[in-house]
Amino acid sequence: MIQLQAITKSFGSLQVLRGIDLNIDKGEIVSIVGPSGAGKTTLLQIMGTLDAPDSGTITIDGTLVSRMKEKELSAFRNKHIGFVFQFHQLLPEFTALENVMIPAFIAGVGQKEATASALELLEFMGLTDRAGHKPNELSGGEKQRVAVARALINHPAVILADEPSGSLDTHNKEELHQLFFDLRNRFGQTFVIVTHDEGLAQITDRTVHMVDGEIV
Ligand code: ATP
Repeated sequence: MIQLQAITKSFGSLQVLRGIDLNIDKGEIVSIVGPSGAGKTTLLQIMGTLDAPDSGTITIDGTLVSRMKEKELSAFRNKHIGFVFQFHQLLPEFTALENVMIPAFIAGVGQKEATASALELLEFMGLTDRAGHKPNELSGGEKQRVAVARALINHPAVILADEPSGSLDTHNKEELHQLFFDLRNRFGQTFVIVTHDEGLAQITDRTVHMVDGEIV
């Protein structure tokens, strides 16, 4: 599903990725762990086409994305990749339902269809009665589940998550982790999760260890 070949990246004189090769299969849940500064977030950003490598190739779902131009790339990203970040990044002026619908609108899906899909996802997340609430009226765990629903609305093949449970307490953390597995089992998505959470790393299908810009 995701193939990275010989990815390198530097910021000025700092070489952050030193030739990363990584293949991730469809439906796999992979965690990326390693010390602070190892290059985990940079790798995830490159995998998600949010940043470009200096060299190397990226193939996602059979498409060689590393050759695409930005306009084509942003459409590809919106359709094929869902992102979940440590801080939910929901838009405060919109309700949970509207936040979930945003990527569908960007993809050109009509109001009726987008609403139906968003409501179905919120139901799956156990958030039906929170659909009309704005982010400041939701708990931390609820906000993060809305963010996951938003990442899923366009049925992306790949979900990339950067410290998704980093701001949650133990209970919400465990619920969110279970949700990833439930989603994979139901929709077959591929998950790549950057995490410092050892409990999560232990239950993923595979753990990729990074040190100093390399997979070890
Ligand atoms: P953490 O676990 O602390 O989040 P990480 O393994 O995710 O760390 P990255 O965020 O990928 O590490 O950063 C790797 C290195 O690249 C760090 O030294 C960081 O300061 C540097 N870096 C990241 N982004 C940039 C940038 N846009 N400009 C300059 N340096 C950057």
